[in-house]
Amino acid sequence: MKGVAVVTGGSSGIGLCVCRSLRDRGYAVYEMSRRDFEEPGITHICADVTDDRSVNDAVSGIMAEAGRIDILVSNAGFGISGAVEFTSMADAERQLDVNFFGAVRCVKAVLPIMRRQGGGRIVCTSSVAAPVAIPFQAYYSVSKAAINSFVQALQCEVRPFGISVCAVMPGDIRTGFTAARKKTPEGDAEYSGRISRSVAVMEHDEQNGMAPEKAGAYIAGIAVKRRVKPLYAIGIAYKAAAVAAELMPCGLRSRIVGMIYAK
Ligand code: NAP
Repeated sequence: MKGVAVVTGGSSGIGLCVCRSLRDRGYAVYEMSRRDFEEPGITHICADVTDDRSVNDAVSGIMAEAGRIDILVSNAGFGISGAVEFTSMADAERQLDVNFFGAVRCVKAVLPIMRRQGGGRIVCTSSVAAPVAIPFQAYYSVSKAAINSFVQALQCEVRPFGISVCAVMPGDIRTGFTAARKKTPEGDAEYSGRISRSVAVMEHDEQNGMAPEKAGAYIAGIAVKRRVKPLYAIGIAYKAAAVAAELMPCGLRSRIVGMIYAK
């Protein structure tokens, strides 16, 4: 056994492929999500990342059984779509609570363990929607941009303890993410059909995107890498897009994104 890995949102999609890849690399893998789930060589723990107690109980249970946690892959997440104007505050808050504060809860639960152990690796699943904010997915983009800032600040705080932290930004991946998206169609008439057209482009791109096995294997590779950079994109096209987005004048970037996702 090479070490103990905890993966949130490992019951489907990218997270499931991360779990399988880490298991196949010789790690004891614990998976945390809400639904019932069974997979050989992976220990499922029913947990909701929006619930402090659920996360803390899950991590305590893993410590009681395995005695250490070497890797956390904080991956649980979902997306909402809709115009900012018509999205309810409840939906906006839920998006941040799952995607950002869910990661924060898991990170806070493992940090004291990793600090006492003298090291550990934390990988958060972000998105290219962090550097390239997507219209009609504003709150999703915000939740992933928050992850990118969080990992960079946290890395500086915990470096002296031998803990390394990074975020991986997938692009479009073929998973249950598309079907799980909570859509707010309200306002489509007022926005001249641009909300539904934008969502259709997103859904098409996701369902014709990268296989989750490739994204999962990539993230698992980062989780076991000797040294990590703060941010990674997956695949040459998305690496180029992330770099171009950083270098491009903000106004030009906004106009290009608008032509694709807000026409
Ligand atoms: P997915 O197939 O829908 O998987 C989402 C996972 O998150 C499931 O295991 C789900 O399990 C879990 N989850 C959701 N809410 C949870 C909660 N409150 N507590 C615990 N677990 C929860 O989607 P995916 O594409 O693999 O998404 C994984 C990550 O990749 C997400 O963070 C997503 O934002 C990110 N991402 C995806 C894409 C893409 O195109 N697919 C692109 C960029 C980034 P339960 O429902 O059983 O709880």
